[in-house]
Amino acid sequence: MVDLQTHSTASDGLLTPTELVEYAASVGVTALALTDHDTVAGIPEAREAGSRYDVTVIAGIELEADFDIGALHILGLGLTRLDARLESGLTVLREERTRRNLAMLARLAELGVEAGYDELVSYGHGGVVGRPHLAQLLVDRGVAEHYQDAFDRFLADGGPAHEPRFAPSIAHCINLIHDAGGLAVVAHPRTLRLSSWRKLTDAFSRWKALGLDGVEAYFAGASRDVAHHYAQIARRLGLLVTAGSDYHGRWGRPGITGVGMEIDDAFAAPFLPEAVQRQEIPR
Ligand code: AMP
Ligand code: ZN
Ligand code: FE
Repeated sequence: MVDLQTHSTASDGLLTPTELVEYAASVGVTALALTDHDTVAGIPEAREAGSRYDVTVIAGIELEADFDIGALHILGLGLTRLDARLESGLTVLREERTRRNLAMLARLAELGVEAGYDELVSYGHGGVVGRPHLAQLLVDRGVAEHYQDAFDRFLADGGPAHEPRFAPSIAHCINLIHDAGGLAVVAHPRTLRLSSWRKLTDAFSRWKALGLDGVEAYFAGASRDVAHHYAQIARRLGLLVTAGSDYHGRWGRPGITGVGMEIDDAFAAPFLPEAVQRQEIPR
């Protein structure tokens, strides 16, 4: 089994990179992409654990791109250059998160919930802080009953404490990923909220022209038939097909790494270090 989308404490996952790799190994995952939001800080630790637990760790990231309909998340898989250039691109995104986190705290204060920035940051285990951490804070304060309640009543898109995040264009995300030696893949395409297969095909086709490399057709919550359909569309357009669980640990929601469909090793092949070396992608 392989899993090409997972999160650790470097962003909003609950397991450290080491714990994540250990867990992946225990459920039979042989290749795992760590795809934290806006950071690659967990990769060295994950790799180190991978060598101990015999799990191939693929360096990855998840970025959010601007999209007017639903949520457009772009995975970077098989990154080979975790360098200053990538860091400077990611720093801009993390600074925008800081602005947005402060704005969400201000909105909560208006709703009568006073929480300090340092308190919120303390939920982040030193990693990138996002809405899941704020949700946990609201639960601990007794303001929300549970994680999902915090989203439903406060933090969901358009909710009273939600502040939108400025997201760069998809072209910018793709370029950032390509510059770091990775391949760019649309994550969990259901969140795009495109209302027909036709619209979805058109969108993938437009994004391919911008350099998109693949589609995560097999994602948690997609039935086998639906996943096959996403995969078929992607392949017809000459895009790679990937599979990922989007595992975050248990933030009060299910999620077992390895999405439990036909997640065989072939999905990981294009992103494994040997393959990435062989690809002579002109860019
Ligand atoms: P952020 O990157 O800070 O915008 O947080 C996004 C994360 O919050 C997503 O990856 C989900 O894990 C979670 N999330 C977003 N919307 C919801 C929702 N309506 N219900 C539950 N979790 C959500
Ligand atoms: Zn996440
Ligand atoms: Fe995502």
